[in-house]
Amino acid sequence: MDFSSKLLENAVEEISYLPGIGKRTALRLALHLLNQPLERTTDLAQALVNLKTEIKHCEKCNNISDSKTCEICANPNRNHALVCVVEDIRDVMAIENTNQYKGVYHVLGGKISPIDGIGPNQLEIKSLIEKVSSGSVDELIFALSSTMEGDTTNFYIYNQIKEFTITTSTIARGISVGDELEFADQVSLGRSIVDRVPFQNSLKN
Ligand SMILES: [Zn+2]
Repeated sequence: MDFSSKLLENAVEEISYLPGIGKRTALRLALHLLNQPLERTTDLAQALVNLKTEIKHCEKCNNISDSKTCEICANPNRNHALVCVVEDIRDVMAIENTNQYKGVYHVLGGKISPIDGIGPNQLEIKSLIEKVSSGSVDELIFALSSTMEGDTTNFYIYNQIKEFTITTSTIARGISVGDELEFADQVSLGRSIVDRVPFQNSLKN
């Protein structure tokens, strides 16, 4: 792609680093921003810098948060002994949108995936085991996507915590295996949390 401006070329280059954005789309976006008032672009740039520099991870659940403890963990009306294990913040958002869940979360930050070089140590698993061993958890709900990596992660965690006397359950999914949690519709996802089943049942197949 030949540019008449190095400044435009740089902007297109930076935008095209975003996932799913090719050079042509990047050019369209850059030209769009160029035609906007300066304020729009500075607001966008500032929001992105703030996102990167100011966001924190909740010290209790590892959810993305603006403060040391996220709003969910800081809420005294939530059941803090009921912990739902999820992969990332998109799953928290999907489950929160159902309005069916009043417990708290533990965000792993991914799934065990040897092919991608992600082992248990790259994830927030140790802190989860510590949480369980401290005796503050009554029930752990596994809500990872039912992919091979999700099942592997569930099973790994289950093996670490089965010695503790807590209830373990898995969300009852009315959707097919391999569906990612965040794409499940709100009604089925809400129902699947309410109708969760003992984790041991999911090991039979
Ligand atoms: Zn939290």
